[in-house]
Amino acid sequence: MTSAPTPVRVRIGPSPTGDPHVGTAYVALFNYAFAKKNGGKFILRIEDTDQKRSSPDSEQAIMNSLRWLGLSWDEGPDVGGSHGPYRQSERLNIYRDYVNQLVESGHAYWCTCTQERLAEVRKRQLALKQPTGYDGHCRERSQTEVLAEIQSGTPGVIRLKTPHTGQTRFNDFFRGDIVIENTEVDDQVLFKSDGFPTYHLANVVDDRLMGITHVIRGEEWISSTPKHVLLYQAFGWQHPQFCHLPLLRNADKSKVSKRKNPVSLEYFREAGYLPDTLLNFLGLMAFSFEDAREIFTLEDFVQNFKLERVSLGGPVFDLQKLLWLNGRYLREKRTDAQIVQYLQDQLFSTEYLSQIVPLVKERVEKSEDFVAYADFFFAGSVLVSPENYLMKDVERKRTIELYEFLIEKLEALRPFDATHIDSALRAFCLEHALKSRDLFMPVRLMVTGKKATPPLFETMAVLGRERCRTRMRSALQALRAMPV
Ligand code: GLU
Repeated sequence: MTSAPTPVRVRIGPSPTGDPHVGTAYVALFNYAFAKKNGGKFILRIEDTDQKRSSPDSEQAIMNSLRWLGLSWDEGPDVGGSHGPYRQSERLNIYRDYVNQLVESGHAYWCTCTQERLAEVRKRQLALKQPTGYDGHCRERSQTEVLAEIQSGTPGVIRLKTPHTGQTRFNDFFRGDIVIENTEVDDQVLFKSDGFPTYHLANVVDDRLMGITHVIRGEEWISSTPKHVLLYQAFGWQHPQFCHLPLLRNADKSKVSKRKNPVSLEYFREAGYLPDTLLNFLGLMAFSFEDAREIFTLEDFVQNFKLERVSLGGPVFDLQKLLWLNGRYLREKRTDAQIVQYLQDQLFSTEYLSQIVPLVKERVEKSEDFVAYADFFFAGSVLVSPENYLMKDVERKRTIELYEFLIEKLEALRPFDATHIDSALRAFCLEHALKSRDLFMPVRLMVTGKKATPPLFETMAVLGRERCRTRMRSALQALRAMPV
């Protein structure tokens, strides 16, 4: 008698540490399609083990963006399910129990090495041109002694006792067998001194307990996989099938990143890309239909999806192509009435207009003036000639550097409201000895393209972080490209 096949269960495990990334949507789409095609379940797990960088706002934004795209999950922190909780920060006791099992079975050990000692070891290894990694100091010590130190208040972590000989082998669905010498695998930390697990431990324990059958994730995690396989072996568990999708790349083959291009799903929504265009575009990144069609719905994608048709050739996240596709969607997939509705819901929504009107009404006499005065609230690019972005008495090179810092500061600013923008910009002036008016005018020009606008901080708040960021980055690019 043959047993029934295990039902497919896949997951994404985004870390809520910033804006919802287009890469998360790409991996989510492939997981979703695989689950739906095979009558399985698609799970959303929030991997918030980095206490300092995780935030509820970011978690909410990830969920909103995935919903906007139409990728819904069968189990997750908000919808529940039989394998919860689905937020790792709510599973700390589980990880503690499992890591204790590993210590008891001799597969893991406590370590009290300080950051200073680890830095020393690394320095020495680099000087001797040896591979860097933990040198096993506490692995060789008596655990009773190490535990006594921890009891008396020294912070301690738990590390995996990686075998010193042999190889670790696993199969990647797209790449075949991958073999790594165990000497190349570090004694990784599994459990931190703050009582939180590391990504490796939490990921493996959760995939096991949540019954994950296929791990479909980005190829940046391939180097972590041998560590995971060793962990599965230490627990005596079978590991899921690994499937590492190729990374999204810029046209110059570098990894997509916010330094070069917009990558936040919120940007694409605000800038007027249609959710079905974006999904279609992401589907094209590593998959091709047998009949080579380029335009398809999510249902078509699911129907035709096969892991065998995923190709590894570096997919290019080409914004020009996305734009072209969006145009086709507008013309071919939307009626005029739908476009009117879309504009009313998005660009000219009551909510957005209600934020703009109080800012601009002081300066206008008749309704037409709104268009001339407030156009930058609706425009795409607001580039002006780049010398406008220069700061008085500051060299161009230094100006560019300062804008880089400023953009980073604004990207991290939460909430992005007038009060916080005000204090961030003023603090920036103080920190870099700039006169506020020397900074505020070029910033105003970057985000609005105009010299005369409503108050800067309120204006930036209404424009929102994504628009400000994108406009400032384009201005910066123009400034860099400016002939000297
Ligand atoms: N937390 C990881 C991430 O942010 C999950 C990687 C995985 O899927 O194993 O993408």
